[in-house]
Amino acid sequence: MTDNSDKTENQDVVLYEVRDGVAIVTMNRPEYNNAQNSKMTYALDDVFRRASSDDDVKVIVLAGAGKHFSAGHDIGTPGRDVDQTFDRASLWYDHTNKPGGEFLYAREQEVYLGMCRRWRDIPKPTIAMVQGACIAGGLMLAWVCDLIIASDDSFYADPVVRMGIPGVEYFAHAHELNPRIAKEFLFLGERMPAERAYQMGMLNRIVSRNELEEQTLAIAGRIAKMPRLGLQLTKQAVNNAEDLMGKRTTMDMVFGLHHFAHSHNDLVSGDRLAGFDGKSMAESQRQLSDNEKAEA
Ligand code: ZN
Repeated sequence: MTDNSDKTENQDVVLYEVRDGVAIVTMNRPEYNNAQNSKMTYALDDVFRRASSDDDVKVIVLAGAGKHFSAGHDIGTPGRDVDQTFDRASLWYDHTNKPGGEFLYAREQEVYLGMCRRWRDIPKPTIAMVQGACIAGGLMLAWVCDLIIASDDSFYADPVVRMGIPGVEYFAHAHELNPRIAKEFLFLGERMPAERAYQMGMLNRIVSRNELEEQTLAIAGRIAKMPRLGLQLTKQAVNNAEDLMGKRTTMDMVFGLHHFAHSHNDLVSGDRLAGFDGKSMAESQRQLSDNEKAEA
């Protein structure tokens, strides 16, 4: 008999602790490689608000429990909750009773684009501590952080072009990577190893897996010694510079394309994700890496 209950239903999907001025936020659905359901995104929003308000917190580290940082958005675990209503963090209205494309548009404005943008502008430095897989929606969480410290076994991919969708909702690809590399990354959907992501400037440091936490906390500790306002103003300065380079307007434009693709999928196949779920996406990725090996 298969167990269809969500193993994370009764556990905290996000853990929170403060050590020496550093808040450590840990995604905690390791059984599902930290696939993000709404329960998790709302829990993240709560703890980021808490860390932001706490004067004793100078720096925030975002981590994932278990083998992998994040496998992306939850598109198929027993805890998938796309149809559920939560107390919303923005002024967006409830999506669950809305028809057609409005359903997902309202949901993703709130839980993906809206939340990620807010987290990116948290007025304190944030560091993503990334190990193992950082896939699709997982990229969004790493990218909203100011620094990314990664283990040498980490890897990155956005395979959603397979669903006919031009990248995940927080479209920072052409800013995180050189535009030509961003196209390759998206067209092929293949895994980018840590070393290449580092060369592209997407990562700040690569360290071994067993030193990841120690090194990340050491860097966080050094930043924590700087003055709060100086850090905030610096963060704002660089974020504004990115927006002047078109990051924000690119994201707004691509969000429209992204939702055109969801609606097109729904019209053509009756499914917004073109019939894919977590399992079939993982299977396609496996075939992809088999082909890569065969070519080599
Ligand atoms: Zn979407």
